[in-house]
Amino acid sequence: LTSGLESAWNKLKGEEVLTKENIAEPMRDIRRALLEADVSLPVVRRFVQSVGDQAVGVGLIRGVKPDQQLVKIVRDELVKLMGGEVSELVFAKSGPTVILLAGLQGVGKTTICAKLANYLKKQGKSCMLVAGDVYRPAAIDQLVILGEQVGVSVYTEGTDVKPSEIARKGLVEAKKKNIDVVIVDTAGRLQIDKAMMDELKDVKRVLNPTEVLLVVDAMTGQEAAALVTTFNLEIGITGAILTKLDGDSRGGAALSVKEISGKPIKLVGRGERMEDLEPFYPDRMAGRILGMGDVLSFVEKAQEVMQQEDAEDLQKKIMSANFDFNDFLKQTRAVAKMGSMTRVLGMIPGMAKVTPAQIREAEKSLKIMEGMIEAMTPGLFFHVLFVITAFDI
Ligand code: GDP
Ligand code: MG
Repeated sequence: LTSGLESAWNKLKGEEVLTKENIAEPMRDIRRALLEADVSLPVVRRFVQSVGDQAVGVGLIRGVKPDQQLVKIVRDELVKLMGGEVSELVFAKSGPTVILLAGLQGVGKTTICAKLANYLKKQGKSCMLVAGDVYRPAAIDQLVILGEQVGVSVYTEGTDVKPSEIARKGLVEAKKKNIDVVIVDTAGRLQIDKAMMDELKDVKRVLNPTEVLLVVDAMTGQEAAALVTTFNLEIGITGAILTKLDGDSRGGAALSVKEISGKPIKLVGRGERMEDLEPFYPDRMAGRILGMGDVLSFVEKAQEVMQQEDAEDLQKKIMSANFDFNDFLKQTRAVAKMGSMTRVLGMIPGMAKVTPAQIREAEKSLKIMEGMIEAMTPGLFFHVLFVITAFDI
């Protein structure tokens, strides 16, 4: 998506104003980029129409170039398309909040159960998971293992009990234990089928859930529209969770969900680790799609990883020129903690163009450097520093 849009902006370099004529070609690029990103056609049509109308009618702001102006209009429209604001999870006013997860097989429902519990636990809420996927014993084991990992109890009944019955008993148990949030895992199918929908309807009837979240793989392309429509019509969803945003996703699903169903994406999963779950920020997603880099997400992640005091300490050291290789090593590790370098670089503007081979090289160099620094005694360290300085390496 990004490269297609960059060429769209470039075509406006040197222009003085936005006109029907000079935006025609960039608009075609934008349309093509969105279609290539697997955004569904009706959504693309409405989007392009709306951006075109605004672009021509708008008066240029002093000091803002036409290409920047078009970027802004497209960005604002993308943000609007994805729901504008962050949509928070809703919690029940009394009794446990029940979150029912639905979605096709392999999209990441079971993983989300544990991630979500982990996420809510950090907010001080007690959680319980309910194993409602009874078709494979492995699915239950997976949930139990993940639950253990994040320190949350998992309610299971094995594979012989109906999902709606498991849900009912699980809820009773949760009430008894005064649990704040019950997260119910369900079985998916490769495709939408009646048996899956009927089962979900049964489970939903029993639970009367606060949230029914459709889990959607970010890689889902054109089918996202049909998927969201069907789930919403059949069982009624309150929102969606977008998973695997760390992958080679083209982002199309993110753009279609709200527009098609009227329901917001609430959370995104960005990796296989339990920490890889965040609120969905439409403005950041828009920035990312436009190749402006997801700077805010980057900053937030960095802050989370680098403890505040560490950062202050570091700042003092840099100010007083006492920043040594051990500090450097700490920084390197903090970056490594933020996830793979590909992901971190992807959040920095302009870095999207770095090739995977270059990234692998950089990761290798960092490993080597880390090894070197660790192997050094302070004496050796100063020796190396001396050699580096003396010979201006
Ligand atoms: P389910 O069938 O919907 O329950 O899907 P699972 O939770 O079992 O996930 C299917 C596969 O996708 C597993 O191998 C997960 O580790 C992987 N997965 C889940 N979420 C993510 C994510 O955000 N990023 C990546 N890269 N992989 C994920
Ligand atoms: Mg599962």
